[in-house]
Order: sequence, then C-alpha cells, then structure tokens
Amino acid sequence: ATTNAALMARRESAVPRGVGQVHPVFIERGENAEIWDVEGRRYIDFAGGIAVLNTGHRHPDVVAAVQAQLERYTHTCFQVVAYEPYVALAEKLNAMAPGAFAKKTLLLTTGAEAVENAVKIARAYTKRSAVIAFGSGYHGRTLLTLGLTGKVAPYKTGFGPFPSEIFHARFPNARQGVTVDDAIASVEALFKNDVEAERVAAIIIEPVQGEGGFNVAPPELLQRLRALCDAHGILLIADEVQTGAGRTGTFFAIEHSGVAPDLITLAKSLAGGFPLAAVVGRAEVMDAPAPGGLGGTYAGSPLGCAAALAVLDVFERDQLLQRSREVGALLTEGLRAIAARRPQIVEVRGLGAMVAVELADAQGRPDAELTRRVVTEAQRRGLILLSCGTYGNVLRILVPLTAPDALLREGLSIMDASFDAAA
Ligand code: PMP
Repeated sequence: ATTNAALMARRESAVPRGVGQVHPVFIERGENAEIWDVEGRRYIDFAGGIAVLNTGHRHPDVVAAVQAQLERYTHTCFQVVAYEPYVALAEKLNAMAPGAFAKKTLLLTTGAEAVENAVKIARAYTKRSAVIAFGSGYHGRTLLTLGLTGKVAPYKTGFGPFPSEIFHARFPNARQGVTVDDAIASVEALFKNDVEAERVAAIIIEPVQGEGGFNVAPPELLQRLRALCDAHGILLIADEVQTGAGRTGTFFAIEHSGVAPDLITLAKSLAGGFPLAAVVGRAEVMDAPAPGGLGGTYAGSPLGCAAALAVLDVFERDQLLQRSREVGALLTEGLRAIAARRPQIVEVRGLGAMVAVELADAQGRPDAELTRRVVTEAQRRGLILLSCGTYGNVLRILVPLTAPDALLREGLSIMDASFDAAA
C-alpha cells in the first residue's frame, strides 16, 4: 500500500518546491468536513481547501448536478457556442449582489483571473489607469494580482517587476493602532504624493482580509471608501474571493456594511469544489469592454456553472447563511474558551464563520513559530488547520458550513490539545 511519505518523495522530485504544502498528507477520499488519507487516517477539515468547501466535500447535490452535466456536454467555450447554465448563474448572481441598479456577470475560472478582469473592466469604463489596493491584502499570484497583493514574502519574492500604476494604502488594524481615519488619510496621501485621484480607476479591498490575517474591514471604512470613490469618479471593487459565497453569514461579506460596490469578485466556494470565478457588477461598467475584450477558453465552464447553481440551491434550501452565523458563534465561543486559558492567544476575531485567533509571545510579538507548531500538532491529532497573517501568526478556520456541531466541537478540542502539545 502507498504511504504519505512515499508520495511526498515522488512529489518532491516531480513538482517544483515553489508550490508549498501545509501538511505532508495525500488524500484518498473526502466527505463533507472530513477527509481520509492514503494510509486510512481520518482528519477533520478546518481548511475547506482554503475557503472552497462552504458546502463541504462532494456535497450530494453538487455531485449530482455535475454528473447530470457530464452526461450532456462538458465544454464548448462559451464564446463559441453558449449554454444556458452560464446565463442562469449570471441572472442569479445579478439578483443577489447588493445595490439597486442593473447588474451583469462575467464568469471565469480562478480568483486571480476574476481580479484581473475586474481591473480591466474598471480601466475600460473609467479610461483611467491607476489602482489602489491595501497593505496585507491578497489578490492572487498572476503578475497583476501580485502587484495588487500587499505582502512581499513569499508571494512576490523574485517575481518582479510588477505592473505599474498600483498603489497601496493602509488597512486599519486596531491591534497595531491603525485607525479608520489613518486608513482614509493614507488614501488621501496617495492622492497628494503619488497619483491624482482623477487618474485612479479603482480601489480594491477585501471586506475581510483572508491571507492577510482575517482582518475585518470596519463598516465605517467601507462606507467612507464608497464616499471617496463617489467624490472622485473611482470604482469600488470588493474582492470577495475568500469572503464570498456565504462564509461570513451574508452571501457577500460587503452586505454587512450596507455598501454597494461597483464590482465584486467571487471564486472559491461559489462552485463547491469546482473551478469557477465571477465578476459581478454594475451593468454599464461591465459593458465597457468591447466585444471580444473578455472571456477565456475555460471561463465559466459548464461543469462549474452546474456546480454553482447547485450550491446556490443548497444555500437556500438548507439555510446556510443562517448556519454560517451559527457556525461562527459556536467557533467563536469555543476559541474564546481556549483563549481564556492561554495568554499566547491575543485575539479571537472574524465575521460569521470566518474566524481566527492571533498568537503572540510573552513580549507581545507575533509568534509564527508557535503557530506552525500548533498546525503540525493538529495534523498529528487528525485536524487539518491553516495559518495566515502578514506575520504568519494567525490560525484561521474555514470549515464547511455543512459540518455538524459535534464535528466542530471535536475539531476545537483537537485545537485545544494541540496548543497544550505545542506550548
Ligand atoms: N483574492 C482573494 C481575496 C483570495 O483569498 C484569493 C485566494 N486565496 C485570490 C484572490 C486568488 O484566487 P485564486 O487562488 O483562485 O487565483
């Protein structure tokens, strides 16, 4: 029988080392919030494939929808011969996205591709070039999205130069003493020092920074950015690749703030484990690029569309937005109990079921080493856990919303034991 170690050895000689791997584990099978590895060991999955599995591994409805689609056609390229599921999904997303204005949806394959296209569309509409993003933000690994990403190591190291006309403002962070006023002032400083507001096409922001550490954008920040954008004819792009598709208790995280962005990027959990991404936006903005300006061979694959339509049905039937808030409450309470006994946990934070804890040493400095040890100890005890954060000192939970309470509690108790073992 094969082992994780044997497969790791083959992986190391066949796959470049630049592709990281959190756990030295190879999956054999996944079901809802559990996976089994090639050695038959069971794990609770608190990573959800990095926010992709809000409806769990192989949700029966998603599998059935994709199987039915497989029986009819798998590919035409939407720009060659179209298919109804693409249009049906666009109609649904247009109706769901915030804002009392007409909307249109472009489908793609990956989150980075959605962000790239949102920037292209914003430039075509505004006829402006510059884009403002935020420190600690993450938008992808292609060269434009790396330029937007606000963290050097490991993402940007060795890959420059990056596209020009990208500027970074400060993201608020209460623990580091960066207020909403500071963040807005940093945008205004860019207008003074670096780029005139009239040349800025878009401001792009994650409503909750994902890779950056589950930093929640205060509603006031989003509201003030909206006003600033309106004052200068700048478009507001919400990058909801990680926060979207119900993770935070509303389908789009930006809904918590009452702000309607001009463009929203979605991917990950949209299609419940199949590659699909979207840009949803104001119709006249989305229509700015000329025919032929948007698309992609696999963009909006029929399999992805079928999966996404099933995901949306599951959300409605099983009231997963409500469940997302319940999962968030259960995890937050459990993590607070764990934190109460451990001074190393300096904050429990999040929005809905997007929950994390931040770790620091006795001097209050970010403790990436302890974070790594907890992740390793968790894997030894049967829990797949992920870290994140500018300083690598945040443990984040992106467990399927379909996980039963008992499994969530079991995962939390493994986290607790892992802290004991790692401390
Ligand atoms: N934007 C955000 C906010 C993300 O979290 C990610 C992925 N972690 C991306 C963009 C890039 O998505 P993908 O990896 O599918 O290209």
